[in-house]
Amino acid sequence: MSRMHVVLFDIDGTMMTAGGAGQKAMEAALRTEFGADAPVFGIPFAGRTDRAITSDLFKFYGLAPTPDEFRRFQTSYYTHLPIHLASGPAQLLPGIREIVESLARRSDVLLGLLTGNYRHSAQLKLKHFGLHDCFLVGGYGDDHHDRDDVARTAVLAAETHLGRRIPCEHLWVIGDTPSDVQCGRAIGANVVAVTTGAYKRPDLEACGPDHLFDDFSNPSSLLALFR
Ligand SMILES: [Mg+2]
Repeated sequence: MSRMHVVLFDIDGTMMTAGGAGQKAMEAALRTEFGADAPVFGIPFAGRTDRAITSDLFKFYGLAPTPDEFRRFQTSYYTHLPIHLASGPAQLLPGIREIVESLARRSDVLLGLLTGNYRHSAQLKLKHFGLHDCFLVGGYGDDHHDRDDVARTAVLAAETHLGRRIPCEHLWVIGDTPSDVQCGRAIGANVVAVTTGAYKRPDLEACGPDHLFDDFSNPSSLLALFR
């Protein structure tokens, strides 16, 4: 059977900087739907799932964490997100368009997402840059608080799509936070870390990724890994 690389990309800080659009859209949803507008503090965003972030925000504002209220929040968030993406400084990071388009064309690569974003907000962010059709599978932050569980879901989605098991040596996780490195380890993948997000080289080095890049401005140095 032919070799198949499964390459799972994180979104924020790895492929793009949303320029705070995600956080602003969440705050807009809380303000318009729930009247919650006190400044948020003490809630980390990077590397976490949207489900976990939403839970913290609900706790912060004393909102009832029921499925209905979560859905109400999400619906409003999805309305505000494209507006904030369009009006803010959202940017694709160096080399990403070339890397993603090049991998999407390869028949020996299955391109997927491994992100803390809700499935729909992940699509909205990629759509903003016209890359939403490049990723055929994914693990998302809708149901899980723990990124390791998102990683397991992504692998399952890839294996279901391909109809076979993927050997660990052909599994790749690319991300910008210690959580990305850790969840890559949890599924036995090769881990590529990049310092274009919130974490500096020493922080990521300490997690022991297999490969560490300052950025992907030279796409071929990353693409050369998937042989
Ligand atoms: Mg990230």
